[in-house]
Amino acid sequence: MGSLLAMTKKTPAYGARAAKAPVAPMTIERRDAGPHDVAIEILYCGICHSDVHKVNDDWGNTNFPVVPGHEIVGRVVSRGVGASRFREGDLVGVGCLVDSCRTCPECRAGHEMFCEKGATFTFDSLEQDTKARTYGGYSASMVVDERYVLRVPKGLDPARAAPLMCAGITTYSPLRQFGCKPGEQVAVMGLGGVGHMAVKLASSMGADVAVLSSSRGKEEDAARFGAKRFVATKEPGALDALQGKFDLIVDTVSAPHDINGHLALLRNSGTMVLLGLPPNAASATPINAGSLIFGNKRLAGSNIGGISETQEMLDYCGEHEIVADVEVIPIQKVNDAYASMRRGDVRYRFVVDCASFGA
Ligand code: NAP
Ligand code: ZN
Ligand code: ZN
Repeated sequence: MGSLLAMTKKTPAYGARAAKAPVAPMTIERRDAGPHDVAIEILYCGICHSDVHKVNDDWGNTNFPVVPGHEIVGRVVSRGVGASRFREGDLVGVGCLVDSCRTCPECRAGHEMFCEKGATFTFDSLEQDTKARTYGGYSASMVVDERYVLRVPKGLDPARAAPLMCAGITTYSPLRQFGCKPGEQVAVMGLGGVGHMAVKLASSMGADVAVLSSSRGKEEDAARFGAKRFVATKEPGALDALQGKFDLIVDTVSAPHDINGHLALLRNSGTMVLLGLPPNAASATPINAGSLIFGNKRLAGSNIGGISETQEMLDYCGEHEIVADVEVIPIQKVNDAYASMRRGDVRYRFVVDCASFGA
């Protein structure tokens, strides 16, 4: 793909024009559907905290204007002559990835997010031609190569399935990578969009799940998602009884925090996996070597998941009837949703009803 993609389809969207600016209406251009593309009418788009970080420029790498959104569910409205995986009317998903080189070892291993030539992420990224920019799901429609489009299993509510495209795969992948077996003790730190999916998925895999939350008011919800224990971490001595308890700790907290105290909650040979990506400048938490050494403990990270693993996760959620708990909002309320998420106050994913673009 050497040539500049023809960008001719004017599409209503919402995005930010500068760091911390409000998310406001704008018109973007989508490419004409190529032979292997599907054109998708976007029905719903979840709001991930990564969208908020990007608009804040928390990681120092946002190119403005940015149109966030990578938890997309929509319907196929047309397809290129060489696109055979989907038909018009199919309910499909688009997650964090829309293209990659397809030939490097990482792509061949199904880890497209680590493509050695540079993955094309769904927003604030470059197409494989390294020229055209990508704009995300806070919009009415999009055009995606069918290889990066996911099948949404029948029976899943489309609005509640949208957050699976990021929050679902972000938690499913590490639970599979680091093991989450019946009877194992798993702790989830932070009960937001990603955290509540971790609770639902880990408990569906048979683990005994504990939620470690800074919000006492989320206890009943945690139980409803399948957690057997709830710990309000701000209460003095809350962690004392949990020392050495967990096989796996999944940290989804979006704000800076110390993790040494939580490493003490791991069993010997246990693993703590970081999923939350707090702002760069503030996240330099020193780790005491002894927190890991005494007990052969592991500290790991995990970044979303590749396309085939995302489809595997969706099929798993279809079989087990797992979807997110969502609050559906019109796009006009997106800034209020961001304000709630900055406060850690979300139950448990805002999802934009893209009919509100009025296209
Ligand atoms: P979210 O819905 O906003 O939830 C974050 C949760 O963190 C809050 O609900 C809250 O839970 C907890 N929290 C604790 N202290 C907080 C504070 N001072 N301010 C705000 N929240 C606080 O966010 P999310 O969409 O789940 O995303 C969580 C993090 O994962 C973000 O940093 C995001 O960028 C990152 N992420 C990473 C990947 C990946 O591939 N690794 C993928 C998606 C997202 P309690 O009330 O229970 O304490
Ligand atoms: Zn995300
Ligand atoms: Zn590649």
